Amino acid sequence: MATKYSRQREEIKAYLASRKDHPTADNVYMAIRRQIPNISLGTVYRNLTMLVDAGEITRLRVGDGVDHFDYDTSPHYHFVCTECGSVIDLDMQNIDSILKLAGASFDGKIAGHVTYFYGVCGNCCKKENAESN
Ligand code: ZN
Ligand code: MN
Repeated sequence: MATKYSRQREEIKAYLASRKDHPTADNVYMAIRRQIPNISLGTVYRNLTMLVDAGEITRLRVGDGVDHFDYDTSPHYHFVCTECGSVIDLDMQNIDSILKLAGASFDGKIAGHVTYFYGVCGNCCKKENAESN
């Protein structure tokens, strides 16, 4: 049994490692079904949750109501496209200095922040430009 479960987790990890687009549980399920045809969405979700709890992957809640999963657990920021829903890594400096701003006139202790950026992604901008020509 242990072998079966670890194989499922290894397949899920390998899939996430191959993606830079922060797949949802549904996306992972559709892809993993090709390798493990009898796997269920519930099993995929349980494995994803276990991997998150073990700190091996990150769960992203970016405000679109679905969980996204990231193989990259290093601290980094995400952009969400309001047109196509893409979740994209942003290459930018750390903004932990906002903790100071947040704490400036607050009498408690600020311990962290969750920040995501949103707007229109490069692909959607190109499409908009093409349509207006
Ligand atoms: Zn887009
Ligand atoms: Mn990411």
